[in-house]
Amino acid sequence: QALEKAALTKETSSKDTGEEKNAYGVKIGENCKNNGCKVNYEGEPSNLDLCRYHPGIPIFHEGLKYWSCCQKKTTDFSEFLEQLGCSTGHHCWVKLETKKVAACRFDWHQTATHVCVAVYAKLSDPAPTYVEANPIRLNANIVFGDENVFTLDIELTGLIDVDQSSVCLAASKVEIKLRKAEPSSWRTLNVEREQTSNNKTDDEKADEKAEGGLEQMVDAVDLSDL
Ligand SMILES: [Zn+2]
Ligand SMILES: [Zn+2]
Repeated sequence: QALEKAALTKETSSKDTGEEKNAYGVKIGENCKNNGCKVNYEGEPSNLDLCRYHPGIPIFHEGLKYWSCCQKKTTDFSEFLEQLGCSTGHHCWVKLETKKVAACRFDWHQTATHVCVAVYAKLSDPAPTYVEANPIRLNANIVFGDENVFTLDIELTGLIDVDQSSVCLAASKVEIKLRKAEPSSWRTLNVEREQTSNNKTDDEKADEKAEGGLEQMVDAVDLSDL
């Protein structure tokens, strides 16, 4: 479930102009950038094709590979790549191509009723940025600055009320305000998993080499700074 985006009007309108320019610059043969879609751009009609893609992010965890959206778990990397998209929409010819996975400082604090997570991403871009949550999980994908992407995907310590939670994109940071479902005090923001990235089997390390770029996306979710 996507949290309501409260973006500054000025930022939104300037972004719209930028996207229009991109739409005209698509080259023939350009491949669709949506996860799981292998269609190439063959001219104007391609824009009317249905795109089957995974709106989520790739997750590699304890040898299992899956998309966060549909979670069909497999141990086989090529099988994972072949998984047909679970959602349909429009092809995306230019997005993400030049975006870099970036680390970004974030912290959190709490009040009696809320947990506030501040991600210090300067000049976040409201259109591609999304923050999703369910009562026990927060998944933020923040596009900011010079085409950087920061991903935060955590299992929360306490329960939240998603409908009363919100996210605000300001010039210097992204503030995610999570409404506590229970009035307890949180000791930590997220549940620490026993297995960390420093504790992998040789098999998984070999996987990492082969997986290249995709693995980097997962590495961006580094919780050791907490
Ligand atoms: Zn999917
Ligand atoms: Zn597509």
